[in-house]
Amino acid sequence: MVKRKKNGAKTGRSLNLVLWFCFSLFAIVVVLVFTVVQNALVDRHYRKKTMERLGTASTWLLGSIGPNTGEQEAVNLIVDAYKSYGVSGYLITSDGQSVFPDLTDQKSYPALAETLNKAFLNGDQSAVVSLGNTLIYAVETSFGGQNCYLCVTKSLESLNDLEEGMGLISFVMVLVAIVLSFAASGLVAVLITKPVNEVTERAKQLARGDYSLDFKENYFCREINELSEALDHARVEISKADKMQQEVIANVSHDFKTPLTMIKAYASMIREISGDDKEKRDAHAKIIIDESDRLTALVLDLLDISKLRAGFGADERTVFNLSEEVYRVAERFDYLKDTAGYQIETEVESDLYISANRARTEQVLYNLIGNAVNYTGQDKKVKVRLFVKGQNLRFEVVDSGVGIKQEEIPTIWDRYYRSSETHKRPVKGTGLGLSIVKGILEAHGYPFGIESKEGKGSVFWVEFFPAPKEEDVENERAEEPVKKKKKEKKKDSSEGEG
Ligand code: ADP
Repeated sequence: MVKRKKNGAKTGRSLNLVLWFCFSLFAIVVVLVFTVVQNALVDRHYRKKTMERLGTASTWLLGSIGPNTGEQEAVNLIVDAYKSYGVSGYLITSDGQSVFPDLTDQKSYPALAETLNKAFLNGDQSAVVSLGNTLIYAVETSFGGQNCYLCVTKSLESLNDLEEGMGLISFVMVLVAIVLSFAASGLVAVLITKPVNEVTERAKQLARGDYSLDFKENYFCREINELSEALDHARVEISKADKMQQEVIANVSHDFKTPLTMIKAYASMIREISGDDKEKRDAHAKIIIDESDRLTALVLDLLDISKLRAGFGADERTVFNLSEEVYRVAERFDYLKDTAGYQIETEVESDLYISANRARTEQVLYNLIGNAVNYTGQDKKVKVRLFVKGQNLRFEVVDSGVGIKQEEIPTIWDRYYRSSETHKRPVKGTGLGLSIVKGILEAHGYPFGIESKEGKGSVFWVEFFPAPKEEDVENERAEEPVKKKKKEKKKDSSEGEG
């Protein structure tokens, strides 16, 4: 069950909000990952390059300082090292006394000397020590007969500044990403959410029974256009069905009302006027019986339609001779030959069998021939044909009546026509005959249709699928045990031989 808020609106997050949240999250994660990776790489690269520089500078200084190097010369050398390599340097004794001055004014020599003494214990050529923000690269040497350390140093402050700057850039980028995700989700909202909302609104209107709004199909996304197209198709179909339903209710109630009124009127007449007059009473009673028959026919047809809709159209199939069935149904109209001068011509190939529901098939044949009789022209001729056409058995009823308008052909099967009182018809109809025919043929899966020319007449056709003759089936059944026995015999004899 869909949850709803108190005011009836459905709960759940708005697509816009979800989109914005996802876009922002994605952008922030990307920026953060990028920043972390970048910081780590920059840090590593900067330290590696600094170490290389410190190593080169210390080699150069070691080569330049000799036993006779004076203090001023040493200062000049250290200034040169700074200019060439961007590093500073000094020489201290192993007990922490300054030999050459430190231009950066480093004062913690004894502690540094102690650290270096420990670091060089394992016999390494050089040692790297971090002191606060400064990276110290030290090598052992001797000066004036004393064990000394040449320390080349570089401050890592610029790296910290760089990292701080990158942090700031990342922060700005996160803000930019959030703003951009607003813009992106806004764009997506315009392209997707807005059309979806529009389509939903129209669908709601459709659900309320307003069929006037059609669904547009010129949205940006193909999927929304397809949804819109499908809903528009549904709108047209539902409006047709709705109209038809209203028509059916109007017509059915009208068709019920007319005979009921007649029945009541004639019953009253019998009671009040014609009760004692046998002739009149019989005439009035006949009208009552006729009208009751009409009502019964109408009810039976309505029941048939509802049964067909429920899928009881092709149940209980049997194999039977369709040619004989066509003859039999056509013969039922023979009485019209003598009474009304109708001519029903049959042109039927014999012994054509089908497997279908026999009673339903008879109903189809009867309704189609009955319609042709009702709507044929002045010549009162109807032709009934059954012949083999390709793989199928084609049944045709041809009349010479007014025909059917091309635009009415597709809907004529579904329409409920009120039996026209102005059109005098020899065969009684309820206006539901073709709907029943359609239901039965669809349940069997037989193709059917109409070919009609206005003013010239119509051909109603059905293509039945042939089935093997009943006798063939029976013969086959009868032969089966014989064949089996023969086979068994053969088997026995071959085994015996073996
Ligand atoms: P009805 O009981 O009115 O004949 P049907 O469902 O059998 O009802 O037919 C529906 C309508 O189709 C008819 O009212 C008639 O207008 C049209 N129709 C059916 N058969 C023919 C035909 N052979 N020629 C012309 N119109 C026909």
